[in-house]
Amino acid sequence: MDIAVIGSNMVDLITYTNQMPKAGETLEAPDFAIGCGGKGANQAVAAARLGAKVMMVSKVGEDLFAENTVNNLQRAGVDTRHVTVAAGTSSGVAPIFVDDQSQNRILIIKGANNHLSAADIDAAADELKACKLLVLQLEVPLPVVYYAIDFANQHGIPVILNPAPAVAGLDIDYACRCDFFMPNETELEILTGLPVVTEEDVLRAGQKLLGHGLKNLIITLGSRGSLWMQGDHCHSVAATPVKAVDTSGAGDAFIGCFAHYLVQDGDIPRAMALASAFAACSVTGRGTQRSYPDMDTFQRFLN
Ligand code: ADP
Repeated sequence: MDIAVIGSNMVDLITYTNQMPKAGETLEAPDFAIGCGGKGANQAVAAARLGAKVMMVSKVGEDLFAENTVNNLQRAGVDTRHVTVAAGTSSGVAPIFVDDQSQNRILIIKGANNHLSAADIDAAADELKACKLLVLQLEVPLPVVYYAIDFANQHGIPVILNPAPAVAGLDIDYACRCDFFMPNETELEILTGLPVVTEEDVLRAGQKLLGHGLKNLIITLGSRGSLWMQGDHCHSVAATPVKAVDTSGAGDAFIGCFAHYLVQDGDIPRAMALASAFAACSVTGRGTQRSYPDMDTFQRFLN
């Protein structure tokens, strides 16, 4: 395996409606769809679509969604030997309500993801030790994320930490023990307590984070592109101009693709440029994982 993602999976339950029911009211909604999501699974699928050898360590519930989640990961080419059932739990689900202005209202029930434990990492230790990169997010318990960072440090495995969703109590010392720290604008704002509106704001907040001793900070800035900061060095990548249809999961597409190219040759600017194109391609389609291109589609997009 090249890449191990230790993280979440969720089932998106998407209702398309312009009207939300009041207490005690029942309404009919015009349309519904099920999608596979969760930041961990999204990033694993993005990398696997490009041909990366990816394994996931993740927990599903004891319910109907579990098989669908595992099948979906396998179809994308993700190794699921360490995606296991947390007995007596529900799978992670996200009821999402989308109106005709494409505004989302999202609830997240982490379910089985809350039951991922250090024991799951220990159970996967032999396979994890052979990986070239570990990718982590914050949709599973923080102590498990810290345990994974300790494990990776002990075995000399580089780590990408995507601090999403932003958790105010994140121990920055652990972030400093990761090779790449990759927040988006909102997460940067929450982590630093500084406003992140202008380019100067981004730099100021980035410098504040780097001041703690981060090795590499890569900030994704939506349609404004992405920025890599390392010490006094800054490298920015403009977003690939596209007509955006649905930007959900763009950050996960960026990270999955970045991980894939990073393990190939360690060339950070090249990995960022390709991740930027891959994420741009994904925002031209509806849905999250559904909008991630495979290698053929991505190559056509690049040409
Ligand atoms: P998140 O999904 O976490 O909010 P961002 O919105 O920062 O993440 O998007 C991640 C990356 O996806 C950006 O750095 C950029 O490269 C690409 N991207 C996002 N939105 C657009 C867009 N409208 N047009 C082109 N690229 C985009």
